[in-house]
Parts: sequence; structure tokens; C-alpha cells
Amino acid sequence: MDLDPPVFRYHPNPIASGSIVASGAQCVRCEQRRGFIYAGPSYCEVELDVALCPWCIADGSAHEKFDASFVDEALARPRSWAYGVRFLLPPL
Ligand SMILES: [Zn+2]
Repeated sequence: MDLDPPVFRYHPNPIASGSIVASGAQCVRCEQRRGFIYAGPSYCEVELDVALCPWCIADGSAHEKFDASFVDEALARPRSWAYGVRFLLPPL
């Protein structure tokens, strides 16, 4: 199991903000229980709330599989946390 969730450049402390929560839930993408689950907003055809681990969001595989985005496009603006999530960076 990974020790720490991936780092999002524009959202340096997603655990403190509540976007990533410690959870034993299984990720619907990688089907692993990695100790953390993404609890922020998602915009997608299927229900993904509290269903994806942050690693699958960080590496883009969640977006690829579900065609999901994780920000409200209307609220996204450059240099915001939302922008950072939209253009996800790989874990350090
Ligand atoms: Zn996953």
C-alpha cells in the first residue's frame, strides 16, 4: 500500500481541505483499498462520489475510464486548486 496520497501541485493539502479522506473504501477504477479516497466533487455520467482513490485521479486513469472531470468547469480558473486538478500532475 502507498503511504501517502499523491501530491497535487495546486492543492498541497487535500486531506486538510477534505477533498481526500482516509477511508477503507475500494476504488472503483483500480479496485484497490489504498487507505484514501477522493471525496471532492466529480462530474460524470456515473455516480463517482467517494468512489475513486486519489492515485487514479492523479494519473488520469479515472478520467480515462469514466470520462469524468473533477471540477465544475464554470468555477475553474487558472492557478486555483480546480485548475490544478483539471490538469493533473503525476505523483512526486
Ligand atoms: Zn484507484
